[in-house]
Amino acid sequence: MYAERLDRVRHRMGELGVDVLLLSIGADLPYLTGYRAMPLERLTMLVVPAGGDATLVVPRLEAPRVVERPEVFTLRAWEETEDPVSLVAGLAGSARTLAVGDRTWARVVLDLQARLTAASWRPGSEVVGPLRAVKDAAEVESLRRASAAADEVALQLQAGDVPLVGRTEAEVSADLGRRLVASGHAEVNFAIVAAGANAASPHHEPGGRVIERGEVVLCDFGGTMPDGYCSDMTRCVVTGEPPAQLREVHAVLERAQAAAVDAAVVGASCEEVDAVARRHISDAGYGDHFIHRTGHGIGLEEHEDPYLVVGNPESLVPGHAFSVEPGIYLDGRFGARIEDIVVATAAGPESLNRAPHGLAVVEA
Ligand code: ZN
Ligand code: ZN
Ligand code: ZN
Repeated sequence: MYAERLDRVRHRMGELGVDVLLLSIGADLPYLTGYRAMPLERLTMLVVPAGGDATLVVPRLEAPRVVERPEVFTLRAWEETEDPVSLVAGLAGSARTLAVGDRTWARVVLDLQARLTAASWRPGSEVVGPLRAVKDAAEVESLRRASAAADEVALQLQAGDVPLVGRTEAEVSADLGRRLVASGHAEVNFAIVAAGANAASPHHEPGGRVIERGEVVLCDFGGTMPDGYCSDMTRCVVTGEPPAQLREVHAVLERAQAAAVDAAVVGASCEEVDAVARRHISDAGYGDHFIHRTGHGIGLEEHEDPYLVVGNPESLVPGHAFSVEPGIYLDGRFGARIEDIVVATAAGPESLNRAPHGLAVVEA
């Protein structure tokens, strides 16, 4: 599998005229080698020449963590007293055009640029992004498991099993995190809990605010499963009788979200899917309050290609996996969002999240 992915990377490097691809920390490296580098200051770098064998340069003390795959790369461990930048520059040789992974530390890129003065540089995502965006059957299955695990937590929330009233947002966030781990995640990536007016801030940082009766609680949570694939979903619940207008806003979102999912067919463009959600919300009079794109790709990272946003004409193909998450935010009052992970398939869009979309009234 890794050798086959690397073949496709080399093919794309050829198309783009990239001589050498350099990948450091971030998800491109595990996608191509199965090895995830710790975000250390010590340099880890996969050097992939378009026409030659790949070399994985790692600090000596990290080498025991590498599962060697001779058909994919040669391992080159560097000692504490060696200069890994010279090592990588040497492997890059006389390359004219280099692509470097988007997550690479700026410090490393600057040092490499000082060494390879004649080269021109491109973002590694131009090479690897479109390949990672199209999931194979095993990856879709991984995303399905991740979404099912997140759904378990959403169902507990909707059933009133997660105490809300009288607790702080931060306490509920920690609780959701524990439940994400209990449902099978290896890591919690985020658990946004935003109550009442705080829900009008899409990425609200859960804090010391105590949740009261009769207010919306927006919960947006996700984590990484042991195999590296991510979940991400949003549901809103209300602690007792909802405030005026919340039901109406939420119903608009339910329609907009469902229509955008239905529009996410193979061949539709990313911006068309965004436009469908936006049109429903604008027609209901809330267009100015939908202040972000409709969705983002998901896989080994929470946010990756493709982005469902105005200006992205890219067409959906089978295997594209992405969130569909319209929201409406009324400053100083409340906000709401509904988010599912969806995969484009030849048989139509498949929602991986199954927890109900409705505004659950919880006695919790
Ligand atoms: Zn977000
Ligand atoms: Zn989310
Ligand atoms: Zn999301």
